[in-house]
Amino acid sequence: VDGTTTWVYDFSEGSRHQKDLLGGKGANLAEMTNLGLPVPPGFTITTDACRYYLEHGTTPPDLADQVTEHLTALEKAMGKMLGDPGDPLLVSVRSGAAASMPGMMETVLNVGLNDDSVQGLAAQSGSDRFAWDSYRRLIQMFGKTVLDIDGEAFEDALDEAKREQGTDLDLDLDADHLRDVVDRFKAIVRDSTGRDFPQDPREQMDLAINAVFDSWNSPRAILYRRRERIPGDAGTAVNVCSMVFGNLGADSGTGVAFTRDPGSGAQGVYGDYLQNAQGEDVVAGIRNTVPLTDLQRIDAAVYDELVETMARLESHYRDLCDIEFTVERGKLWMLQTRVGKRTAAAAFVIATQLVDEGLIDMDEAVRRVSGDQLAQLMFPRFTSSGDARQLTQGMNASPGAAVGRAVFSSEEAVRWADRGERVVLVRRETNPDDLSGMIAAQGVLTSRGGKTSHAAVVARGMGKTCVCGAEELQVDTKNRRFTAPDGAVVAEGDVISIDGSTGRVWLGEVPVEDSAVVRYFEGEIDPGSADADDLVRSVHRVLTHADGQRRLGVRANADTPEDAARARRFGARGIGLCRTEHMFLGDRRQLVERLILADGDDERQGALDALEPLQKQDFLEIFEAMDGMPVTVRLLDPPLHEFLPDLTELSVRVAVAEAKGGADEGTLRLLAAVQRLHEQNPMLGLRGVRLGLVVPGLFAMQVRAIAEAACERRRAGGDPRPEIMIPLVGAVQELEAIREESERVLAQVCADEGIDVRALIGTMIEVPRAALTADQIAGSAEFFSFGTNDLTQMTWGFSRDDVEAAFFHAYLDKGIFGVSPFESLDRPGVGRLVEIGVERGRAARPDLKLGVCGEHGGDPDSVHFFHEVGLDYVSCSPFRVPIARLEAGRAAL
Ligand code: ADP
Ligand code: MG
Ligand code: MG
Repeated sequence: VDGTTTWVYDFSEGSRHQKDLLGGKGANLAEMTNLGLPVPPGFTITTDACRYYLEHGTTPPDLADQVTEHLTALEKAMGKMLGDPGDPLLVSVRSGAAASMPGMMETVLNVGLNDDSVQGLAAQSGSDRFAWDSYRRLIQMFGKTVLDIDGEAFEDALDEAKREQGTDLDLDLDADHLRDVVDRFKAIVRDSTGRDFPQDPREQMDLAINAVFDSWNSPRAILYRRRERIPGDAGTAVNVCSMVFGNLGADSGTGVAFTRDPGSGAQGVYGDYLQNAQGEDVVAGIRNTVPLTDLQRIDAAVYDELVETMARLESHYRDLCDIEFTVERGKLWMLQTRVGKRTAAAAFVIATQLVDEGLIDMDEAVRRVSGDQLAQLMFPRFTSSGDARQLTQGMNASPGAAVGRAVFSSEEAVRWADRGERVVLVRRETNPDDLSGMIAAQGVLTSRGGKTSHAAVVARGMGKTCVCGAEELQVDTKNRRFTAPDGAVVAEGDVISIDGSTGRVWLGEVPVEDSAVVRYFEGEIDPGSADADDLVRSVHRVLTHADGQRRLGVRANADTPEDAARARRFGARGIGLCRTEHMFLGDRRQLVERLILADGDDERQGALDALEPLQKQDFLEIFEAMDGMPVTVRLLDPPLHEFLPDLTELSVRVAVAEAKGGADEGTLRLLAAVQRLHEQNPMLGLRGVRLGLVVPGLFAMQVRAIAEAACERRRAGGDPRPEIMIPLVGAVQELEAIREESERVLAQVCADEGIDVRALIGTMIEVPRAALTADQIAGSAEFFSFGTNDLTQMTWGFSRDDVEAAFFHAYLDKGIFGVSPFESLDRPGVGRLVEIGVERGRAARPDLKLGVCGEHGGDPDSVHFFHEVGLDYVSCSPFRVPIARLEAGRAAL
């Protein structure tokens, strides 16, 4: 800081491209100001100032002066002084980070009111009631957010005042009652903090600014950021905005609106409006709102101006926008806009609509959707209601089908979910404290609030099913139950089903069906036919375009003919990983046991001979399903003892048998083998290529089965393209030994069958040493497939099967990583090894084929990385194939 840093910008000085500096809210307020839209004047304190504050525990020394300068300018423009007793300027102090975090941080309205200026406000507005209502709101918000007083203290006091007047409506309290409420609120402040509510307007403003900075690190903001993968050090900007009032009577009000339906993408204007109310009232769902279209009836001129403004914003931003607005005595004010959150379905539909409207091109449409959104569209949905009884229909706030046990608090939701129960969180309305419960639940059901209520907005952001505003339900959170209109009482633990696409709520479990998008991938819906809805058509268009742009190939991990066929329907062009281990389970376990227990070459060969035709049959069907496309078969990988009984169980069985007079010889031999094969660290033990080297004939049998299956397919007129993959290689010598043996077997089979089958032989790169010596290994491998699961496990020294339960929670909490490295590739560590493997491998063998077959092959972020390092393909589970196709296309743009 050199004393020349600009910490404060007027709304007229910024633009929407300065989100990092001004936060999203500030940047967009500036944009709207410069578009000439009616935005109440104000200024923005930068995220730089917040970062300074968070780092030093105090604001930059020259901030106060810069704020004064801008405040003075604002006062001049408005012709009023902050908190002036005769005619006060009032402001809101609003948070606003670069990434949208709806409702996560704090905002204080009506700053500048005190015992004197409340009189001035009353005189100027001609409404005592309004002035005292505004003052009580200030003390309440300020007390809660700035002074850290429990919000319930204020709510209880307000409820008590209403009860004394025999009402439960805020609007029934008159000016005198509200003056009395202000006194009670001031007493609460005094009792809770030991000091009086600050009367100095500037002090109010400065304290509120610091409170907004502090709210960046509130627990709920931290939790939200972790979930949304927002960096923790960005900080928030603070917007100081002159107040406009929606609570001045019936000709005033406040609302929230979308330029298209954020649920389905349908064209039109959507939103909620509340007459005679101030900002927070709409979002909090405290009173029931009316649909925005009712505003046309209430005030046609304002409605027309609003609709026109929204159209203007949409064509300016070339996207769906959401807005907050207030009407003050018939005059429209814009208080916020941003490119709006939307459901996954709406994202696809809107993207192609905007293409058709000529606002964006197809590349941009592909950029505007994501693999995560596509994944959400592949979730199943409800079919007929089955035996379940419909209880009511609320608003369809966030689509999806959720079935679970009803719980009535966030804490219970977390507790039940930790026990492995599926729950639906039922609340009258949610607030930011419910975030952890919403994460834990399958879905959220509320009885109050519209599509823009907290529950709806947050659920949509998380892709969580939500039905809101189910007004017919009487939710009794204290007694943990709700009552339906037909009198049915649903208690904690009862199973309910909620449909976020229709708003329906049932008692009992409703059966679910595949999504239309999945049926399209399955080939059951033709995107060109009348069966296809807007969503299917846009998914088809977007994916077709992504396929045309991407450089990465997409294959699937598939071990069965069914999976192979599905993967192919979903757009996979080959199998990148066909595991052979499950082929050794089930009925065949006996044969594997025979192999492991074999005493001498003859017995072993006998066991292998019995397994071979079964393996051949497995491969035949997979080659058939993937005819004409590469199928990478991985030779047996897991430790052998996985095919044998558990050591402890078997020991007990033998001990019991001994006690009863002796165990049979077979069992004793089995026990000896299990003991012999027992390993302390099996994942670092006898597995992968090591098995091939110490169990004579095992890999040769598998290679023979592959070659024979390929020959048989060829004779049947097919086009099999086998690739043989050796797992867990760390040294080229390991690979050379297996390669020699495999080539010998292949040549033998070709000679015997009189058919020339070619099979590439390659290896997995999953041991760090293999990546580091990739140049040597490439000398003996025609392809590499990065096994990023094992590579992550071995690079970090994390046991994949144990870490999640043992300590990943602590690691995530402490921010050591934001997301598990098993979920999304760790670029600087594991990714660096991949880069080294690619560089060295290609240097030694320029035509080396490179792929990846770990879970990361279907993870959006990781797919972008694999594109950047120049792999030829990714391979992932069949259901992730469309996601990989889309992300590979996005990576190429
Ligand atoms: P959030 O990010 O939680 O929406 P905001 O800063 O947008 O917080 O403010 C909360 C509510 O107060 C919103 O409904 C907003 O429209 C309203 N509000 C904020 N500033 C003003 C103002 N200057 N005049 C009137 N209402 C305001
Ligand atoms: Mg807002
Ligand atoms: Mg592996």
